[in-house]
Amino acid sequence: MIRAYEIDPKFKYELQKIPGGEKILKCFQCGTCTSDCPVARFSDSYRPRTLLHMAHLGLKDRVLSSDTLWLCAACFKCTDRCPQDVEVADVIRVLRNLAAEKGYIPQVFKDQARTLVETGCAFRIPDLRIKKRESQGLPPLPKGNPKSVKRTLKDVKFFEHLQKSAGENLNGRQ
Ligand code: SF4
Ligand code: SF4
Repeated sequence: MIRAYEIDPKFKYELQKIPGGEKILKCFQCGTCTSDCPVARFSDSYRPRTLLHMAHLGLKDRVLSSDTLWLCAACFKCTDRCPQDVEVADVIRVLRNLAAEKGYIPQVFKDQARTLVETGCAFRIPDLRIKKRESQGLPPLPKGNPKSVKRTLKDVKFFEHLQKSAGENLNGRQ
């Protein structure tokens, strides 16, 4: 059910002004993006066509708070196949960036971001694996550069987004 207060009719025009979202209005809902999406094939809920439809309808709050938004693997197959030249993967990136600005970041990515800040790498390498490499005579892994990572993340206001509660400031509601 869609309630009138949920609809922000200007949302699609806002998206159009953001690099990557320019062609969103060309989508005619054919579903090719979903039928070719490798993630949709294994998920009951992830549908790129639906995300674009929600954005078109102005369901800003719903689309930005949707967990499925974060399932996209950014493989760009949808972009390659769209008959309307909609840059589907880029639209999803734009939606994710807006979601992050509002504090909608799944916990798993927040945890990964903390690891990145602390180690300079996206994943912690367990000591056991490092020892195993040594025992196999493999060279040491390159060290991460947390200082450089912190500097970059600070520039994009990442830490401010990370501290926001989910949904903060979104349409003035929590
Ligand atoms: S393939 Fe393109 S036109 Fe078709 S639903 Fe997806 S984005 Fe819209
Ligand atoms: S970029 Fe995302 S939405 Fe597009 S086909 Fe790949 S996983 Fe699916």
